Amino acid sequence: MNRVSEVITSSVAQLTESDTARLDVELLLAEALGKNRTWLFTWPEHELDAKQLKEFNRLLSQRIQGRPIAHILGRREFWGLDLECNEHTLIPRPETELLVETALDLDLSSGARVLDLGTGTGAIALALASERPDWKITALDIVPEAIELAKRNAANLRVSSIHWCLSSWFEAVDKDQKFELIVSNPPYVEENSPWLDIGDLRFEPRSALTAGGEGMLDLEFLVKGAVKYLAKGGFLLLEHGNTQAQSLEKLFISNGYKSVRSIQDLAKHDRVSIGQL
Ligand code: GLN
Repeated sequence: MNRVSEVITSSVAQLTESDTARLDVELLLAEALGKNRTWLFTWPEHELDAKQLKEFNRLLSQRIQGRPIAHILGRREFWGLDLECNEHTLIPRPETELLVETALDLDLSSGARVLDLGTGTGAIALALASERPDWKITALDIVPEAIELAKRNAANLRVSSIHWCLSSWFEAVDKDQKFELIVSNPPYVEENSPWLDIGDLRFEPRSALTAGGEGMLDLEFLVKGAVKYLAKGGFLLLEHGNTQAQSLEKLFISNGYKSVRSIQDLAKHDRVSIGQL
């Protein structure tokens, strides 16, 4: 009854609310056993001892109550980097890797000055720094716990090139400082969106998820605000909701940005937009 394969099957059946039940169970079981997922496939006959079973059930019961896997494990992988996560920030999402990819495709020169606004776990800034250690990256967040977390993530990954700072959007940026690239994954979910009551979103800070004006308020603020801080020819790159590309493109254009375009994620949803000053 306590074989790895049996524990997986019976636990998946209990996780009716999760649409990634099998993956969830495998991650939690691997954690309880101190192994990786590959080990589980290699040793399906392994019998859990009482202590292992107890630890696994402790983790599983949290997941049954809806707690995100990233919070139970205290970490999430993003861009191949292991990031510590907690309830103070958004959990890094695969869609946001599209923003990282788009930023890297710009192939900015060595020493390019890059600003990440609302960095949360530090995911975007750290992914960029891992690929382009030659860029001068500044990452800001309004939540002190987020900056502490991002700094810990940087230390764990031995990234020392990023300047982290507590700031409400551009507040802490010097008036005459300029950047070749400004990126952000700001809050963009509508305040009364039904999605907020489903899945992981229930456990993430509202301040990282929602914005007024049908989710457009912070996006709009950033399009307008970045004008002052972009170097000539500099880019603003923003993640947004899958129905916001058109309105956002209009905002870019009315604020003087050129070469405005949106890029689709793997689900074929417009997910990031970019404009150049
Ligand atoms: N993509 C997230 C979601 O819809 C929202 C992230 C954000 O607001 N920046 O779950």
